[in-house]
Amino acid sequence: MEALLKVQNVEKIYGKGDAQFHALKNISFEVEQGEFVGIMGPSGAGKSTLLNVLATIDSPTNGEIIIGQDNIAKMKDEQLADFRRDNLGFIFQDYHLLDSLTVRENILLPLAISKVNTKEINARVEEIAAAFGIKELLDKYPYQISGGQKQRTAASRALITNPKLIFADEPTGALDSKSATALLESMSKLNVELDATILMVTHDAYAASFCRRIIFIQDGKLSKEMFRGTQSRKQFFQQIIDELGQLGGGMHDIV
Ligand code: ADP
Repeated sequence: MEALLKVQNVEKIYGKGDAQFHALKNISFEVEQGEFVGIMGPSGAGKSTLLNVLATIDSPTNGEIIIGQDNIAKMKDEQLADFRRDNLGFIFQDYHLLDSLTVRENILLPLAISKVNTKEINARVEEIAAAFGIKELLDKYPYQISGGQKQRTAASRALITNPKLIFADEPTGALDSKSATALLESMSKLNVELDATILMVTHDAYAASFCRRIIFIQDGKLSKEMFRGTQSRKQFFQQIIDELGQLGGGMHDIV
C-alpha cells in the first residue's frame, strides 16, 4: 500500500553560525492510511519540532515531506495555508474554543466557510459528536462543560472536515485520567471505525498505549519503533513502560 505520509531525510537546524542547533537529524519514516502512531521521547528530543514540520507549522531545513501526492516541504506559505485547511486536523493541549459559540457552532466552524450544505453539515456534526460522546452537549457553551468535554469538542472540530491526517500534540496533557481515557477511546474508535490517520506526540505511556505503533526520538534522531501487534492495550502499556525503563537516563521524565 502507498504511504499517506512519507518523511525523507528531514533535518531541522535552528539558528545560524555558532548558535546553530540541529534539532532533527536525518529523520525518515512512513505512515500508512489508517495508522494511529505515537511519538515519544525525552524533553528536548525534537518531538514538537517534528510535529510542527509535519503539520506545516514550521518548515524543515532539508528533506522531503510528502502527504498524499503533495511535497509540503516545497510549498509556499499561501499554498500551505490552503493545504492545511483542506487536508489536516489539529488537536492541541489547550482547546482554542470560541466562548461565544455553542459546542455545535464551534465544531462546524471549519465548515462554515466551505460549500457543504446545511443538512450535510448537521448530519456530520451529529455523527462526530456521537463518536466523541458529546451529542447531548451540542447546544451548551464552553463555560458550561468540563475540560474533558472541551477537549472532545476541539477534537470533533479537528475532524469535521474529514482531514487526511490528524496531528495531536499532548492532547491529554491538561485532562484528568477519566477525561483522558474518554478522549483516547474516542480517538481509537475514529481510527478503527472511520479509518482516521492520527499522529500523536505524548509524554504519557498510558496515552501512547492506545496507539498501534510508537516512534521514539532521542537527540533529534529516530531511536526505536514499537508495534502493538496483537497485544492488548494493557500489554502494550507494559511494553512501553519497560522500553522507557531500558532507555533510562534521559527518558526518566517521560513516565
Ligand atoms: P521536545 O518537543 O521533544 O521537548 P523540541 O522539539 O521542543 O523538543 O525541541 C528540540 C530542541 O530544539 C531543544 O533542544 C530545543 O531547545 C530546541 N529548539 C526548539 N525550538 C527552537 C527554536 N525556535 N530555536 C532554537 N532552538 C529551538
